[in-house]
Amino acid sequence: MAELTIEKYNEMIKQEEACLFPKSYTCPVCDENFKSLAVRKSKMYSQGMDEDLRPKYRWVDPAKYEVVVCPVCGYGALARYFDEMIPAWRKLLQNNMPSFMSNRVFLGGNRLSYDEALQQYEFACQCNELAAFKESRKAYTYLKRGWTVRGKLSAESDFLDEDETRKAREEEKTYLTKAYVGFMKAMSEEDFPIAGMDEHTIMYLCAALANRLGRYDDAMTILSRLMTSKGINPRVKDKAYDLKEIVRERLKEQEEANKALQ
Ligand SMILES: [Zn+2]
Repeated sequence: MAELTIEKYNEMIKQEEACLFPKSYTCPVCDENFKSLAVRKSKMYSQGMDEDLRPKYRWVDPAKYEVVVCPVCGYGALARYFDEMIPAWRKLLQNNMPSFMSNRVFLGGNRLSYDEALQQYEFACQCNELAAFKESRKAYTYLKRGWTVRGKLSAESDFLDEDETRKAREEEKTYLTKAYVGFMKAMSEEDFPIAGMDEHTIMYLCAALANRLGRYDDAMTILSRLMTSKGINPRVKDKAYDLKEIVRERLKEQEEANKALQ
């Protein structure tokens, strides 16, 4: 990777800030009105996606700005779930929130660092556990949290030492594992669409996550089921085919490594 100069770094920050705006929210737990940074869709220039559907954009990583946290009570959630609230969940949150309120940091400024964004995810994940939300909501939050760690690894590789890099890789794996297990459970418990994804897309995502986590046999099982499903969208089928090739390759490598050990 080309060395990052101060000038380049400042330019990156300026460009990222230009992609953001303060969006208004009303907290469904304490009724506070506040603003949280969001990404302007018109400013996003696609740069493809990872095989597990993580989209990549020039200048801004939208996963950093997907969590909204109320600055008064500490309720946090992905923006898409922020307003989903029923009285029973509100009560659970109100009764339990003080336990982690003391860790809350106030975020000012025109952008978030990766560490600040990951702190926001910590609040969202704690609230998810407190209020016993749907499995898919928890899984989707962990998926985005894992993607945010991956974004940090890629954007801050020049600044992270070996130990920090190893820790971040482990963190990404932990969150993606939680996402994978959660989505598999959600598929057996919830109606589609799940987290905005139809049945075939989420099956593909689970296969891609299983592959990333080294669960190649699980990935193969899901892909075989997916590719023989009726009414599969040709785009998903193509992606599944490509992924199957990758998994097959990994299985072969694994088999050869095992043979070498014997
Ligand atoms: Zn609140």
